[in-house]
Amino acid sequence: MQAFVAITEGEENPLTTHVYKKRRRARACTACDLVCLLPVLRPGEQANCARCRHVLARRHLHPVQRSIALAITALISLLIAVTFPFIGVEAGSLDNQILIGQTAEALLILHQPLVATIVAVTVIVLPALYLAGVIMMQAGMLRDIQRDYSDPIARTFTKLHPWMMADVFIIAALVSLVKLVGMAEVHLGVSFWAYCLFAILLLMTTRSVDTGWLWCSLAGEPAPPANLRFGISAAAQQMTGCPTCGLINSLSASGTGKCVRCGDRLHLRKQQSLQRTLALLFTGVVLYIPANTYPMMITTSFGQSHSATIIGGMIEFWKSGSQPIAVIIFVASILVPVLKMLTLILLSWAVYQGAATHALHKTRLYHLTELIGRWSMVDVFVVAIMVALIQSGNLMSITPGPAALAFCAVVVITMLAAMAFDPRLIWDSQGNRHES
Ligand SMILES: [Zn+2]
Ligand SMILES: [Zn+2]
Repeated sequence: MQAFVAITEGEENPLTTHVYKKRRRARACTACDLVCLLPVLRPGEQANCARCRHVLARRHLHPVQRSIALAITALISLLIAVTFPFIGVEAGSLDNQILIGQTAEALLILHQPLVATIVAVTVIVLPALYLAGVIMMQAGMLRDIQRDYSDPIARTFTKLHPWMMADVFIIAALVSLVKLVGMAEVHLGVSFWAYCLFAILLLMTTRSVDTGWLWCSLAGEPAPPANLRFGISAAAQQMTGCPTCGLINSLSASGTGKCVRCGDRLHLRKQQSLQRTLALLFTGVVLYIPANTYPMMITTSFGQSHSATIIGGMIEFWKSGSQPIAVIIFVASILVPVLKMLTLILLSWAVYQGAATHALHKTRLYHLTELIGRWSMVDVFVVAIMVALIQSGNLMSITPGPAALAFCAVVVITMLAAMAFDPRLIWDSQGNRHES
């Protein structure tokens, strides 16, 4: 994909020109708040912020048809994946095969309703709702636009992305396979391959939905405030870019307002960003202690119980010769959550102190934290798969330990903490300098 940097300075006032009204849009970067004028993009091109290089817009060829085709294929793959067996195991008297939905069901039976709900929601329910939403809205766009239902769908679109974890579930399935290979004969069902295809198609669908274009088609592109200036932050002009549709709106003296296009509530900065981030981080740090000290999984074999903590499980993988899997567990369950919590604490501290240096690096670090946080769910999904698969009464069974709930909560809470943090605060003390 070819990248273009959005124009920020030296532009003639484009607000009154025909070309601008038709094709060009003003956007406030969601990462650094710089007001940029997007270039006219052709399919396959993207525009990046001139200051922090954050992606401001992407164009695809035939975006509606492309999203519909991808979403329909993804939904069919998901239907196949939930209907047919996912993985089967055979070892002595143990002969079991499971459907994907049974991973959540087994957790529910074993008194882990919260973990079961999170597994079901992130692996099946949210992706299915998202895909149905894409199909409904894009199909409506091809015919007559029904804003009554398309607006709420469009508003929730971007908020769902991090919570759909099909790709993480695939990695968890692979880790489970390695774990099982030593103790049983494993069969991969049709559903496993269908779910792999679904994970890829879901990723392609989320990338193909062009929010800017979508809102422009739904409600047009109202002109931004007449006194808007490019090359400085929107907040310095008492304006903000709408977090939902991207349109730049003027705010009241108290820094609040409502988007004139999508109706979303607007604030100069995320409300109580630092307080909420730190409160969530503190909760995450506290929960990380039981997540590591209590067992994650309890294996009962011929009446003998063996429990393993996250670190214990990792060491067992290492000793049994599965070093790559031990590394995956170490990165997903220990390195990522710890680094994520430390990074967010340091970023919050730097903002609180009004540090005006290295804003670009800090922004990149923040985006990396946001991107990798969800991968920590690998261990929770491994527990869900193993618990569902290995159930053979007293002969052999696996049950989730208390750490499963604590660790699941750590992942969800640190994701919420990253979402509560406002990266634009990093740039506020930086002023309008272009480089850190
Ligand atoms: Zn930026
Ligand atoms: Zn809006």
